Amino acid sequence: MSMTYYMDVYGCQMNVHDSEIIAGILEADGFTNVDNPELADIILLVSCAVREHAETRVLGRVCQLGGKWQDRKQGGPLLVLCGCVAQEHGQDLLDRIQKLDLVVGPDCYKDLPGLIHNSTRQALAEFREGDYTGIDAVRKRFPGAFVTIMRGCNNFCSYCIVPYVRGRERSRSADSIIEEIRDLSEKGYREITLLGQNVNSYHDLDTSFPDLLDQASDAAGSAWIRFVTSHPRDFNIETVEVMVSKDNICNHLHLPVQSGSDGILHMMNRGYTVDEYLEKIRMLRNAIPEIVLTTDIITGFPGESEEDFQKTVSLLDEIKYDNAFLFKYSERTGTSAADLCDVVPEELRLKRLNYLQEFQRGITVEKSGKLKTRILSVLVTGNAKRPDQQAARTRGNRMVILQGTDYEPGTFVDVRITRADGWTHFGEPVGAKDI
Ligand code: SAH
Ligand code: SF4
Repeated sequence: MSMTYYMDVYGCQMNVHDSEIIAGILEADGFTNVDNPELADIILLVSCAVREHAETRVLGRVCQLGGKWQDRKQGGPLLVLCGCVAQEHGQDLLDRIQKLDLVVGPDCYKDLPGLIHNSTRQALAEFREGDYTGIDAVRKRFPGAFVTIMRGCNNFCSYCIVPYVRGRERSRSADSIIEEIRDLSEKGYREITLLGQNVNSYHDLDTSFPDLLDQASDAAGSAWIRFVTSHPRDFNIETVEVMVSKDNICNHLHLPVQSGSDGILHMMNRGYTVDEYLEKIRMLRNAIPEIVLTTDIITGFPGESEEDFQKTVSLLDEIKYDNAFLFKYSERTGTSAADLCDVVPEELRLKRLNYLQEFQRGITVEKSGKLKTRILSVLVTGNAKRPDQQAARTRGNRMVILQGTDYEPGTFVDVRITRADGWTHFGEPVGAKDI
């Protein structure tokens, strides 16, 4: 009988897709997936290290799962920690957590079957060249598919652990990316998201990101194309021109600003000023007036004064993002910001976070509200939480709930927006096709 595995994933889309790659590697070796850890021979957790909270959560889960079974020798499952926390702490984790059997970093997943069969406690967390081209990922989000275009990051934003746990930036070959997109489109995938920590610095020989986007759009056929994440320093007019020229490239841009204060942006090593950022937003909105804009913000970075914080509030007020992902600063050992002295107290980070969440919520509600009665094209993605509802997405990446419909996932439908609750919208099909 083949061995069974169960997998939990934490963190960003890159990790979600890495878990699909891990599934591909294991299933090619004869493992089968189960959705209950009690039934698994192997339990894998794909971890995120970007904030302390994420790290604590996954380690708590390791201990909880490990505690369930006496010992592997007495029939318990093999417990494997993958992802960024594995890379960050390596062997230390094996020393600290006796129930953990394997610790495997993001560049070493091809070794998983061998390590599992070998079943000696081991940590493998080395950086390697190359990528996972050629692995047949087991995708779990039909009709959506992630395609990694690059791995790692060279930016060293002073607060961020990613460059330390994901290694140096390397781009996949354009040919292999385009081939993968063509194949996904032929298989019926209808929303293809290009993934990288800084997609705008993609480079393969003569192919830059705008070239890749252009080719990806052609290869995708009728499927929509999205991309994350863009870095404000590298996002450029050439990319916007491709977005304008191609119908299937979605009108959504996630452009993390992090702070509205030049002083803080400098300390964060972000490589742009607020004015430069605003100039890019103007250029983008000029070219694509209907663009849906989202961002990330960190509150309470070391040295952030009340005045700095108010500049962030003003920037949100000026730009009026459709949605924003807000985080309170979390020290990450090994990053340069962790050595800064002028620490903002935890309560103040939280207070600013709460304030900003309220403030942005007002903007999100106002902008979503304006969509009422508008007709938008959506992609039906599958079941919603309630059985009598389906979930769909607009080109702008807004979630739309459809009442009482029964479309195949992957169907494009025109809907009239009836109401909005923050980022979640409700819609009814117009010119109903087959219902
Ligand atoms: N490469 C992407 C995403 C990086 S991680 C980018 O450059 O935008 C996603 C978000 O987590 C970041 O945009 C940042 O807002 C947040 N983040 C990263 N490190 C953090 C830290 N130490 N504390 C709080 N938030 C952090
Ligand atoms: Fe982290 Fe900055 Fe790289 Fe994004 S660009 S992953 S925030 S170092």
